[in-house]
Amino acid sequence: MSEVQRSDESELTALLAENSRLKEQIRQLQDRRDRMYDDMLLWRGIDREGGDTPCKLCGGAGVRAYGGTTTWRGGIGGQMITGDICDKCWGSGNAEKPWLNLRQLPR
Ligand SMILES: [Zn+2]
Repeated sequence: MSEVQRSDESELTALLAENSRLKEQIRQLQDRRDRMYDDMLLWRGIDREGGDTPCKLCGGAGVRAYGGTTTWRGGIGGQMITGDICDKCWGSGNAEKPWLNLRQLPR
């Protein structure tokens, strides 16, 4: 075996080891991210392990960004991204248990 081949093989071995180390690090960070998300949902009263499903539109936050200043009310509004209560879960963040639908309130 030539000196060049031996050098290439040791470089390949080192790269494979680094690849494994990085994949493990990615897995650990993804686990940590998922646990952090679950903790934030629990703070909002949404228990994913208990069978609750976070609202798909707001991710469980209960608020979301609207493309106009009228937010969930609709109609003519200014051209500004505006945060307000989510118009799918109405602030609960829970897909199955929405809070009061503000559009159904009498005007
Ligand atoms: Zn929502």
